[in-house]
Amino acid sequence: MDAISTPKRYDLDDDGVVVIIGSGAGGGTLAHELTRRGVEVVLMEAGKHLTAEDFVNDEWGGYEMLSWLDKRTASGSWRVAKDHPEAPSWHCQVVGGTTTHWSGCCYRLIADEMRARSVYGEIPGTSLIDWPITLEELEPYYDLAETKMGVTGTNGLPPLPPNNNFKVMYWGASRLGFDVSTGRHAINSVDYDGRPATIQDGFTITGDKTGSRWSTLNVEIPRALATGKLDLRPQSRAVQVEHDAAGKASGVVYVDGNGVRQRQKARAVVLAGNCVESPRLLLHSASGRFPNGLANGWGHVGRHYLRHVIQTVWSVFDKPVNMHRGEIMTGLVRDFVRHDPARGFAGGYYVELNSMGLPTTAAFLEPGWWGRDFVSVIEQYSHMAGMLLSGEDMPQPGNRVTLTDELDAFGVPVANIHYDDHPNDLRLRSHGYKTMTAIHKAAGAKRIIEAPAYPASHNLGSNRMAARAEDGVLDGNGRAHEMRNLFVADGSSFATGGACNPTLTIVALAIRQADFIAGQMAKGEL
Ligand SMILES: Cc1cc2nc3c(=O)[nH]c(=O)nc-3n(C[C@H](O)[C@H](O)[C@H](O)COP(=O)(O)OP(=O)(O)OC[C@H]3O[C@@H](n4cnc5c(N)ncnc54)[C@H](O)[C@@H]3O)c2cc1C
Repeated sequence: MDAISTPKRYDLDDDGVVVIIGSGAGGGTLAHELTRRGVEVVLMEAGKHLTAEDFVNDEWGGYEMLSWLDKRTASGSWRVAKDHPEAPSWHCQVVGGTTTHWSGCCYRLIADEMRARSVYGEIPGTSLIDWPITLEELEPYYDLAETKMGVTGTNGLPPLPPNNNFKVMYWGASRLGFDVSTGRHAINSVDYDGRPATIQDGFTITGDKTGSRWSTLNVEIPRALATGKLDLRPQSRAVQVEHDAAGKASGVVYVDGNGVRQRQKARAVVLAGNCVESPRLLLHSASGRFPNGLANGWGHVGRHYLRHVIQTVWSVFDKPVNMHRGEIMTGLVRDFVRHDPARGFAGGYYVELNSMGLPTTAAFLEPGWWGRDFVSVIEQYSHMAGMLLSGEDMPQPGNRVTLTDELDAFGVPVANIHYDDHPNDLRLRSHGYKTMTAIHKAAGAKRIIEAPAYPASHNLGSNRMAARAEDGVLDGNGRAHEMRNLFVADGSSFATGGACNPTLTIVALAIRQADFIAGQMAKGEL
């Protein structure tokens, strides 16, 4: 479906509006939270405005419909650069962003993770810092985020039920004495907030035709539109953020759905294009006054890129598991999330349930693997079970998003993502593999495959928050240290990554940022 027209339209010369670039977890939430506080918002989104009817219950079809498929390049020692050199990160280009294609796991950062530098100490080669805000400051916003997202296990909402894949995990993990549960998800276990309970068809992740899973497409954006304050502009690709003579952000140049270059004035600009596109835009918006890109006086834009240590283990069992049935990530072992130097690495990890359909399992199991041995595994798909490791990776200044010499169709340089594994990441990874292998062994696995990472789905840190401008791009409210009406509302703002899936934190930060922006506007300071 093409762009759905929106009743509200602000004038291109209206410099009273807040322009948000990107309608995913951060941008879509912020748009709703600002408009409900009376702020006028233009929400630009590169992708189309699809509806539930457009979505398809087909893994590859859904991927192609929703994903950001524009070219990128990759370098560094991470295996992703070899296996997926033109698609190193995985996210969406559609109204609702990557909340249209996610598994709904919702966990909070823990206090130590937000004080990583103080707790873990100095680790050579890393650029660890503490967050400029504490867990205590974030907790009320986590509460609000869990309520709006309908997170199971909070607000009296029951957990999602176990599926067969979970039963395998549970059997192994409980024999080893681990703390195992189905976990917490922004997927309705019962009817909630006008949305139905999941029908457990295994397709909630791609699009979600039923609307049982929270997304900004089905919750935040319709509510923002209902305020009458939101001008939603799908198929509008921001290509540059402009500033005035005083060095304040003054507007955004974008290419509309007809390919026409437009210029929207703004009172404030918020980047929420995700961890690759937001730094890309800041770097590409370089000017005579800001020759290294906007908000980049200290050279941090694009650096300290994080993607979590994400690995999977797939095992074959005697009896059928049919892991594709039910919600795909309803399992959690949380014994290893706390920092414990005795393990030989800093930070921690979660073990989560994971399953994929047959096509994706075949593609990601071991790219390049073929022949009789490969077939002997993949033909036992119905007997396979899976788990995923989500662990904290170490920030490093050289892990970064940069611009290449190649231009895309909009005249913007293609982004390169460089990532070298830190020795700490590798130690955490091998510990996590051992844990997952032990769980499946304890459950009776016949064969266990430690699979490599697939394209990064938790992209964080490339415009990080830091107490001091010398250490990062943003302050604790997600505002650029160097440009007081420029903000970032997506995963790139994370100071460090912690171990948990990031969306709940992105949403909590966006609600907190809405309080700040609306407060500044009310005081006439923005
Ligand atoms: C398969 C998969 C499963 C996942 N499962 C989980 C999970 O279970 N739990 C969890 O916490 N997280 C999960 N994630 C990660 C989560 O979806 C992302 O971390 C989160 O959506 C990121 O939010 P964001 O606001 O940073 O960006 P996004 O949600 O990616 O939104 C960015 C938006 O900005 C738009 N945009 C970018 N550049 C421009 C531009 N120049 N002009 C206009 N628009 C632009 C994009 O088109 C996009 O719509 C998953 C991700 C994937 C891919």
